[in-house]
Amino acid sequence: MKRFLVSACLAGVPCRHDGRANLVEAVAEMVARGEAVAICPEVAGGLPVPRVEAEVQGGSGDAILQGRARVVGADGRDLTESFLAGAHAALRLARAFGATAAVLKARSPSCGSGAIYDGTFSRKLVPGDGVAAALLKRAGLEVMSDEEFSP
Ligand code: SF4
Repeated sequence: MKRFLVSACLAGVPCRHDGRANLVEAVAEMVARGEAVAICPEVAGGLPVPRVEAEVQGGSGDAILQGRARVVGADGRDLTESFLAGAHAALRLARAFGATAAVLKARSPSCGSGAIYDGTFSRKLVPGDGVAAALLKRAGLEVMSDEEFSP
């Protein structure tokens, strides 16, 4: 059985920055069946719910992993360390669970894959991954967004 790591908000956990979830029934059912394990990297990294909106500035998740970019809150606070801690927590959980693939929320600065917001808080997208998605890809997991996932 293929095992997945999934964004907790897709499984119905209200862990988004605004305190809401992004429930995708098929993802929640995978968790209920024991085929997937859920994590919110931002909460795992120590950030609260609700929390200030954040975006990657100066690159994408890969650049963060290389120390060449940072994650900044809409209030100007540097949140890079929390995002890195959460990404590593997600990777540890994926390994412990035996996940070889991940279904992650599109466009998030942690979970986004393929496209994230550009750091200007103007809803403009740029190519790249969020911090957790980038780390999971580096570790060899197949990462797809909820919009690409078909159960
Ligand atoms: Fe969902 Fe990921 Fe954002 Fe957590 S960090 S709320 S799991 S998209």
